[in-house]
Amino acid sequence: MSANREARRDELVEVFREARTCVKCPLCESRTQVVFGAGNADADLMFVGEAPGAEEDLQGLPFVGRSGNLLTTMLAEVGIRREDVFIANTIKCRPPGNRNPTPLEIETCKPWLFEQIRLIRPRVVATLGNFSTKLLSGDPTGITKVHGRPQLKRLGSRDVNLFPLFHPAAALRATGTKQLLAADLAALPELLSKEVPDTGPEASR
Ligand code: URA
Repeated sequence: MSANREARRDELVEVFREARTCVKCPLCESRTQVVFGAGNADADLMFVGEAPGAEEDLQGLPFVGRSGNLLTTMLAEVGIRREDVFIANTIKCRPPGNRNPTPLEIETCKPWLFEQIRLIRPRVVATLGNFSTKLLSGDPTGITKVHGRPQLKRLGSRDVNLFPLFHPAAALRATGTKQLLAADLAALPELLSKEVPDTGPEASR
């Protein structure tokens, strides 16, 4: 592992240690544990979901319930191994009863996500569902309209291809949505092979 990569991974572990005791919003009172994210700390591809559910809250890992199993299977179908990507969420603590995250929770939690993007340096950030898509695109247009079309975005000091996708939970509920998600995922390998335009020393790998 290069010194640079190792330093970034060590810093990510530091950020995880800090996040683990976060009390910046009231979700700290109801959560079992912070679900920081998991996977390859040097991934080219990062997924950002919505929020931990019950199973994630118990295990401390993202996407380990039914949605997660579907995501893992559908990734394998396009030749992507889960251990090669990094998976995070828009907010790191489970909202009680799996309600939607509030704007305050999203805003309060945002710095953790941006630290993850800064340190992991993904080339493609695939947003799963409306919450991460709206947050990272900076555009309130819903996922039904924007899914499957990459958007070049500057996130912090990084330029990435933002790739909005339907949330796997929506794919579990509707076969049509699952087909659309499968078709969008099939475009990922080619998108990953594309260069993201260079933005100077801050962004160099
Ligand atoms: N749904 C999400 O958005 N994230 C998880 O971690 C699990 C389910």
